Amino acid sequence: MATTTAVSDDSVRDTVKKIFTEYLVKHEHRKTPERYAILDEIYTRSGHFDVEALYKFMKEKNYRVSRATLYNTIELLLDSKLLVKHQFGKNMAQFERTYGNAPHDHLICTNCGKIFDTTDSNIDSIVKEIAINAEFTASHHSLYIYGTCAECQGLHNENLFDYSITPNKS
Ligand SMILES: [Zn+2]
Ligand SMILES: [Zn+2]
Repeated sequence: MATTTAVSDDSVRDTVKKIFTEYLVKHEHRKTPERYAILDEIYTRSGHFDVEALYKFMKEKNYRVSRATLYNTIELLLDSKLLVKHQFGKNMAQFERTYGNAPHDHLICTNCGKIFDTTDSNIDSIVKEIAINAEFTASHHSLYIYGTCAECQGLHNENLFDYSITPNKS
């Protein structure tokens, strides 16, 4: 079974806090509690999320974070490489934490909008081979596979874990 390990313990949260602090200081951005609250919220969850869902969630938890602050902080987190942005098909942009999150590929159901994380060492080997043949130094790769998920086909697949918190229904 190939799934990603979602680490969400305190040590990860401490480390990303340090990385973010260094980034904020270096780029002369203010170290506001709101920004840290957003970082912490993102790193207590695993899987993919869109900004609106995160905004709603934080509102429900009574965080005093404005939409503008949220969007602005997301940009900072992307820039500091603590967050990665995905554009899965025509869906709204989805985000995913990077630190403590093993590299993986994505399967996207075009019917229900669910996103599944998957890892397969065969893909890594092929990517390495392609890079070697092209005399290319690969840093990472990103593979999106579109189609219909097991559930939408009326099947059941226990080999894939669904980490999405809010599947987009567009
Ligand atoms: Zn589906
Ligand atoms: Zn993912």
